[in-house]
Amino acid sequence: MSDQGSNKPPPQHAPMSQFDVVENCLQIGGIPLTEVAQRIGKTPFYAYDREVMANKVHTLRKTLPDGIQLHYAMKANPMPAVVQHLADLTDGLDVASAGELRIALATGVSPTCISFAGPGKSDEDLQLAVDSGVIINMESTGEMQRIAALARAGGSRPKVAVRVNPDFELKAAGMKMGSGPKPFGVDAEAVPAMLDTLSKLPLDFMGFHIFSGSQNLRAEAIIEAQSKTFELAFRLAGAAPSPVRWLNIGGGLGVPYFPGELTLPLNDIATHLGLLLRSAADRLPAAEVVLELGRYFTAEAGLYVCEVVDRKVSRGETFLVTNGGLHHHLAASGNFGQVIRKNYPLCLGNRVHSNDMEQVNVVGPLCTPLDLLGHRMTLPVARPGDLIAVYQSGAYGFSASPRGFLSHPEPAQVLL
Ligand SMILES: *Cc1c(COP(=O)(O)O)cnc(C)c1O
Repeated sequence: MSDQGSNKPPPQHAPMSQFDVVENCLQIGGIPLTEVAQRIGKTPFYAYDREVMANKVHTLRKTLPDGIQLHYAMKANPMPAVVQHLADLTDGLDVASAGELRIALATGVSPTCISFAGPGKSDEDLQLAVDSGVIINMESTGEMQRIAALARAGGSRPKVAVRVNPDFELKAAGMKMGSGPKPFGVDAEAVPAMLDTLSKLPLDFMGFHIFSGSQNLRAEAIIEAQSKTFELAFRLAGAAPSPVRWLNIGGGLGVPYFPGELTLPLNDIATHLGLLLRSAADRLPAAEVVLELGRYFTAEAGLYVCEVVDRKVSRGETFLVTNGGLHHHLAASGNFGQVIRKNYPLCLGNRVHSNDMEQVNVVGPLCTPLDLLGHRMTLPVARPGDLIAVYQSGAYGFSASPRGFLSHPEPAQVLL
């Protein structure tokens, strides 16, 4: 180890100011966490705050140029009450399975404001999509042919868009979804030939879906990817059988999870997007432009709350053993796509501030060292019965965790 930088303070989590602290207790939905726990009658649970989600949507709308449509990519949090709330606030929903599609349709949102992406759609998935009249983002030429067969059989003309695997990548993205060989979408260079075939099929061509990546906190990288996305759409439109009426430019706006990460600044993205929309108005005058976001709307609005069951010391380190962990919140344990494990921000929900602090490891009840929620974090001294609250837990939590692993009880979910 070098001494360089040894006097630099370690990176900190971004301040978590979305929830008030009243009488030293964290509040969510204006209710003290201890009372939420009492009302639910058990721990662990996920709690989501309606107002925090609404603020995210409103801020984005205020900041981004008029004319951009905001869609909620519901795999981030498919709890029906959350989806209903965001359906009321946004302009549409993006789904990735028939199960999600059923939840989306139940909100009453117009099917023309729902798009369905995802590789490996079965004929049953496609039939439901065709019957309900949503836009199907086609992931391959094989899928296109299967949709055409269903259209012929049913005498319908399904709305379709081509999901493009771009020929560029979103730099510095937490999860790269485009460029190189990918299971998602059709390689940009193969799209013109596909569009030629499409023009002879009973399909209603809507446009393109170009999603290059996720969880990005660098405005310049997002701006660059958006420029390339519009350029690619302009280029491909030349090969389209009819005017582009729908252009889904993906999303990628990230939220700060780990020490050293900061809230994404929106102003430059907004200015630049305004310019891109102006050139789109010129070059794709019929196109509605959609930004699809999942975690950006929900992550910060959610807490995962579990209870300290035991505290113990092992060879000089203190362990808080809780009744929650990896099986409920895989991402907070560091096992959902992270290369190097880092701590999510967390606090002692029922005693946020204290003069009596200690360094602890917060672990779950599973018999695996992977079941770790906080590694050497400084928290108020905690006892059994205290509540550990994990911030930034409103996305990729409940539905993205192996809840059957070790057969512990399921966590509850509430929207407040
Ligand atoms: C997962 C996904 C999203 C949402 O990503 P977030 O990082 O949660 O915003 C958007 N679009 C597509 C196609 C996706 O697969």
